[in-house]
Amino acid sequence: MWGSEYRMRYLPIFLDLQTGPVLLLGAGELVRAKLRLLTAAGARIRWYATSGDHDTSGLDPADAERIQFAQGDPLTADLTGVVAVFCAGAGDIGVAMSVRAKSVGLPVNVMDDLEHSTFIFPAIVDRGEVVVAVGTGGASPVVARRVRERIEAMLPARIGDLATFIARFRKSIHGRIPEMALRRRFWERVVDGPIGALVLGGRQDEAEAALNDIADPSAFAGAQASGEIQGHVTLVGAGPGDPDLLTIKALRALQDADVVFYDELVSSEILDRIRRDAARVPVGRRVGKPGIGQHAINRLMIEAAKSGQRAVRLKGGDPFVFGRGGEEIAALRKANVAYSVVPGITAGLGGAAQFEVPLTYRHEALRITFLTAHRAKDAEAIDWSALTDTRMTVVVYMGMTAAPTVRSGLLAAGRSPQTPVGVFARVTRPDARAAVGTLENLPDLVEKIDGGPAILIIGDVVAHSAPWRHQNLNRIISKILEAAA
Ligand code: SAH
Repeated sequence: MWGSEYRMRYLPIFLDLQTGPVLLLGAGELVRAKLRLLTAAGARIRWYATSGDHDTSGLDPADAERIQFAQGDPLTADLTGVVAVFCAGAGDIGVAMSVRAKSVGLPVNVMDDLEHSTFIFPAIVDRGEVVVAVGTGGASPVVARRVRERIEAMLPARIGDLATFIARFRKSIHGRIPEMALRRRFWERVVDGPIGALVLGGRQDEAEAALNDIADPSAFAGAQASGEIQGHVTLVGAGPGDPDLLTIKALRALQDADVVFYDELVSSEILDRIRRDAARVPVGRRVGKPGIGQHAINRLMIEAAKSGQRAVRLKGGDPFVFGRGGEEIAALRKANVAYSVVPGITAGLGGAAQFEVPLTYRHEALRITFLTAHRAKDAEAIDWSALTDTRMTVVVYMGMTAAPTVRSGLLAAGRSPQTPVGVFARVTRPDARAAVGTLENLPDLVEKIDGGPAILIIGDVVAHSAPWRHQNLNRIISKILEAAA
């Protein structure tokens, strides 16, 4: 399950240990582990050995040089210039030291003691300049380590080299591309393109030659001859709610975006996946509440792209399934704006998968129709006689209010009142619900699911769904219980 609580208890930040010494208190194997970590981060360490024995066995002698064996009472020691205080295996002195450090506003960590710590250690992936810190707020170091393993497996071994490589050229490129947005794109092309691949493949010299060969960095970054940046709009399908159902392309578009125009249907967990510095603009309409209108949305997208921004138009489900994607790209074309479309999982497919409705089924269901019945007027305009084939599954979008019209239309056209139907609400979200029954009582089922958004699925295949099977099982159980009573 994906949680609804995404608030951080701890803010991850990176401490520059070049700015002053750190104070370390403790003894034994625990303190040696901290010595290894702190020396690896280049720290100058003032170590109070609480056992009185400054044992540095097992440490690299070069590292050991940066350790100063402190004498005297740490509780009265001068803390001027100290960056942070670490206690590992220091017992009560560690606790007392924590009180003192807090009183002067110094960050302090007492190992395995959240109460006396103002910061905690993450699990660390260390690839040189590239460092990934994974925390669980102290809840479970094992979970943090598993996350770390996955990241280790995912990251190219030389990703740190790539960062170092870029650092070497940053200044000179900065001088040649004054525009910040264009600069960002320049480095994206380097990282994502052949030059990045060369560095990751260990061929730094060739990468350097290729970078030096770029005659016009602005053009390389995608600027037009006029020097302007090329803007772009990506229509992105966000899927029905579960952020794990975003495609990899969708995720990348969200991470590269300068501005995101999103619909109300898009869940907050998905909005959390947007690049933190991107502007977010809600443009959606809601049942009963008008949005800013399609014309205004088109204008916003066009303006954003014309000013060189990478805009994302983020929509629930798929952009081309009752999502006005077609109208939007027509407007973009007319305005000469470059665009692309990233598909999403439409609500009908998300709901079918979650509640196990096979939309097609050998011999039983050979066709699928997706239709919308937003207002009673739309529903009345539908030619129901085209939907009476019993081997057709009908998926209705925006059909909650019009459910009675859907029912009467299909019945009048001759579809059996016993046709299995399901109402599937808030699919793939934590509060998803389903109600199944027959066409006869479709409006009652809509009442049952406590609000939308919801899709209706009509057809024999609904009898294969998980809620249908549970309902049957419950019926059998009550019969047995009744008979036994
Ligand atoms: N482009 C979207 C559809 C937008 S129309 C898509 O491909 O899914 C809005 C309708 O989509 C809603 O009225 C409802 O019928 C359906 N819908 C969207 N999200 C849904 C969800 N999480 N659960 C059930 N239905 C949903």
